Amino acid sequence: MGILDIVPAGVLTGENVVKLFNYAKEHKASKILSFAIPAINVTSSSVANACLEAARDIKSPIILQVSQGGAAFFAGKGLPNDKQQASIAGAKAAALHIRAVAPLYGVPVVIHSDHCAAKLLPWFDGMLETDEAYYKEHGEPLFSSHMLDLSEEPKEENIATCVKYFKRMAPMGIWLEMEIGITGGEEDGVDNTSVENSLLYTQPEDIWDVYSALNAIGPNFSIAAGFGNVHGVYKPGNVKLQPGLLGKHQEYASKKLGGKTEKPLYLVFHGGSGSTKEEIKTAVGHGVVKMNVDTDTQWAYLVGIRDFVQNKSGYIQNQVGNPEGADKPNKKYYDPRVWVREGEKTLSARVKVACEDLGNVGHL
Ligand SMILES: [Zn+2]
Repeated sequence: MGILDIVPAGVLTGENVVKLFNYAKEHKASKILSFAIPAINVTSSSVANACLEAARDIKSPIILQVSQGGAAFFAGKGLPNDKQQASIAGAKAAALHIRAVAPLYGVPVVIHSDHCAAKLLPWFDGMLETDEAYYKEHGEPLFSSHMLDLSEEPKEENIATCVKYFKRMAPMGIWLEMEIGITGGEEDGVDNTSVENSLLYTQPEDIWDVYSALNAIGPNFSIAAGFGNVHGVYKPGNVKLQPGLLGKHQEYASKKLGGKTEKPLYLVFHGGSGSTKEEIKTAVGHGVVKMNVDTDTQWAYLVGIRDFVQNKSGYIQNQVGNPEGADKPNKKYYDPRVWVREGEKTLSARVKVACEDLGNVGHL
């Protein structure tokens, strides 16, 4: 039995998202037992298409997500964003694009929005209004899932705000990802590079507090816990990644629940760029169902374009005239469908590597 026996191809919402993540978490046949699905940050339709192409080629589900900054970029860097209007419109545009093309790729897709800190809540409100409007018309939300990241706030406030929003999301069946404990490093303008080391490791009691508060509302939520993860790629050695801590969280929650299930928590791995395959494997074994990939795919997208520009430099100095003759036209070199495509190819290849690392290959 494969994933397409339990959920359809195209964008998933509600129960189908729960089924997908549960299938990944409880899977027993793959090499690393359970597996996780990479969530790739999408900044344009080109990036989204390259990710979908990779997922199709290796017969895997995929998660496409927009950050607040990425969503604004999707709408257009030239737009004002003082009230999050560009981030709201861009998130909607990205989701509508993905919805339009995803069924053609024949893979299940989760559309998600990335970190939303307290000061960005107007962005979150705008996306939920879009979901509510879409729900009225189609009987399902536009997005599959959203992340709230109030990890910088006191724990009680973090949980209370998540509860408030989750109550609004639950009737539409939208998945909530929340963060507790802090992901170090810098991403999308949020700088946690100077956060104290102890705050980078979440405690099992904190995870349990989150679980019990949210589980009272519904089962469709996941927790991004800090276990020494850092956004971006840095010299190793500053903070030590301890994916084994995630196993302690599962054990603690399982005991609290009377031991009925071994891994009751759906966990999310942020800041995984530069992690070893062994660390990823340990994290996935402990119930990580989603791993964010941004830094490495940003790099991969550039590589194809960089190599093209370097290798074809003689063909892109003028519209006419290249090493083959002064009257030779260069249109087939400067057409964006040629050089952007080269970036799509290297990005797509990198997405496949992320899927392989997470055991997310051939599950359809
Ligand atoms: Zn993150």
